[in-house]
Amino acid sequence: MSLLEIKNLKTSFVTEQGMVQAVRNISLSVDEGEIVGIVGESGSGKSQSMYSVMGLLNENGVIEEGSIIFDGKEICPIHFKGKEKEWEKYMEDIRGNTIAMIFQDPMSFLNPVLTIEKQLVEPILNHRKKLNRDQMHTIAVELLTRVGIPSPAERLKQYPHQLSGGMRQRVIIAIALACSPKLIIADEPTTALDVTIQAKILELIKDMRKNIGSGVILITHDLGVVASTCDRIYIMYGGKIVESGTADEIFYEGVHPYTKGLLDCVNNPELDDHELRPIPGSPPDLLAPPAGCPFVDRCEHAMKICKLYWPKEKVLTGTHKVNCWLTEKGSI
Ligand code: SF4
Repeated sequence: MSLLEIKNLKTSFVTEQGMVQAVRNISLSVDEGEIVGIVGESGSGKSQSMYSVMGLLNENGVIEEGSIIFDGKEICPIHFKGKEKEWEKYMEDIRGNTIAMIFQDPMSFLNPVLTIEKQLVEPILNHRKKLNRDQMHTIAVELLTRVGIPSPAERLKQYPHQLSGGMRQRVIIAIALACSPKLIIADEPTTALDVTIQAKILELIKDMRKNIGSGVILITHDLGVVASTCDRIYIMYGGKIVESGTADEIFYEGVHPYTKGLLDCVNNPELDDHELRPIPGSPPDLLAPPAGCPFVDRCEHAMKICKLYWPKEKVLTGTHKVNCWLTEKGSI
């Protein structure tokens, strides 16, 4: 059984213009100890699908359909048998204990008026209830040492704004480590960091999988980031998963035209900063997404049928799947 199994998830946002269909019937899974990448442009639905899992959608967000099984239990609010407040409390417990989230901007998570030590205490206490002050301090120092923060005892006394962006991200990882979570969801954890620090943060995430056996979901717009980190990858576009496979299948045998666009960018030796080379055109309007393939307006292979019907999933291997009409035409 998978650690996380999402089936047919549909999440939309109520706006004055109508319903924005951010996540459109996606299915994915993550096993214990597995690192899975979700890759796509901004607005592809990758973050909103994970906020749906965490119960962290904005007030106007609503899960319309689907199932989210985490650790054998259904956590999707539409199947929860109880009051909304009870579900919120249930999800708060899960977020504090078994699922940890690492955000792109650590400042949005860290409390600016509390020292690092104070912010580490709560997750430590959640797991080891009967500790005195000295024992907690020792564990906090150990945690900061594990994530490579120099002079940890001094850092514990500091406030978030006194640390660099890379150090703040390490503190978030230390807080996650204190919970020994079963699942870590990292949303663009390295986007704001320079390349050297990026590599170190990715190493730390890999260490967490190795040391505590957590499943990890890495959300990113940059295929380069997931290249050496992930076991499997889902490519999202226009609220849909358009291709999925092992990291090797996506990198060496990726077939969807959008995946290929992302790969061209990563493989382009003239680009030395891992910025995505923009694919001409813009993402679909998710207020009224096309009935067919969401990539149709930007795809050089688009056919009439692409606009009208969403292509069936084609299973290329046990792990490699793609949704593209080219598979029916035998061009893939
Ligand atoms: Fe291009 Fe059609 Fe394939 Fe979509 S389904 S990626 S439009 S060929």
